[in-house]
Amino acid sequence: MVKNITVLKGDGIGPEIVDQAIKVLDVVCEKYGHKFNYTEVDIGGCSIDKYGVPITDEGMSKCKAADSVLLGAVGGPKWDNVDPSVRPEKALLAVRSELGLFANLRPTKLFSQLADASPLKPSIVGNGIDLMIVRELTGGIYFGKRRTEVVDGEKVATDEMTYSEHEIERIGRVAFESARKRSGRVASVDKANVLDSSRLWRAVMHKLAEEYSDVEYSDILVDNTAMQLIKNPSQFDVIVTENMFGDILSDEASMLTGSIGMMPSASLSSTTLGMYEPIHGSAPDIAGMDIANPIGTIMSAAMMLRYSFDMAEEADAIENAVNKALDDGYRTADIYKDGFMKVGCSEMGTIIASNI
Ligand code: NAD
Repeated sequence: MVKNITVLKGDGIGPEIVDQAIKVLDVVCEKYGHKFNYTEVDIGGCSIDKYGVPITDEGMSKCKAADSVLLGAVGGPKWDNVDPSVRPEKALLAVRSELGLFANLRPTKLFSQLADASPLKPSIVGNGIDLMIVRELTGGIYFGKRRTEVVDGEKVATDEMTYSEHEIERIGRVAFESARKRSGRVASVDKANVLDSSRLWRAVMHKLAEEYSDVEYSDILVDNTAMQLIKNPSQFDVIVTENMFGDILSDEASMLTGSIGMMPSASLSSTTLGMYEPIHGSAPDIAGMDIANPIGTIMSAAMMLRYSFDMAEEADAIENAVNKALDDGYRTADIYKDGFMKVGCSEMGTIIASNI
């Protein structure tokens, strides 16, 4: 198969980790007889430096024209004080919106080899952690109207959280369908005791739950979810929630597994075009040092094969290659412990590629 992948390496550790994912994809191509064409587009701070905007119109067109998009990360202290209208993150929100990427899938799995890297006690993680956060990505407070005005002599800032029934229904369907392929349970997270948008969210989810009667459904408030993720994470299968709650809970969940560097994500549209990226940021504190963990990005590439290209066997091959690297004792600095072999970002990529 021939596939066109638009590659957005971005800032900080972005280029280092994306290079490792491409190294692994190249071996997949060799082994399975595919051809992946890569088109690089600047995004984030590096694009601001070159063009004055976090992504150009031409770059956006290349994302839209691709079979899928692979992203590293954007941002860093250098661009923290630029005009808010051209901040690096603006490009991410724009790509999500222009490509209609309304569903963000974040699998959170504790690799058994890293059980002692979890900050939770073995008695809690002993049952394993294997949950999928399905986060709504193009609505809610991140896309609502915002303004700062002066009222009675002081500044007042407002951010609006808006959801419509169709936005809730389509993300709900992704969650229920995903649960059918997993352990068959959906927990819908909201703040329906306070927010109108959450009360509508809950009503739409209840309708869907009737339709998907084979899936076990429950409602849970976001504050309780934050607590339950620490107390008993193995109770969850699929968690579905709105944009901001999902952003926060998925970072919390990722830490249960030891390192944010391990976690992939997929952002899906109603077509096969998706964007795949690790859940972490550009880690400016370790950029250019060849010590970043590339596994989150490599696992994101595996999700790209599974969800956008329908290449399940190839995706399994990448996931098995990652498992073998961990089984063989290779660790990047973020997951390193005495008795294991410490490797850099590039070496970890090479080891995983050679395991394919
Ligand atoms: P971060 O995720 O970049 O880093 C948090 C911590 O995790 C740091 O100590 C970092 O060294 C470590 N870390 C992250 N990824 C790692 C990896 N692959 N291997 C080893 N360690 C890793 O979050 P931050 O420091 O809050 O943000 C840094 C910049 O990234 C900011 O400019 C922020 O806006 C941006 N950001 C971008 C995205 C994105 O592009 N999707 C997401 C979050 C943050």
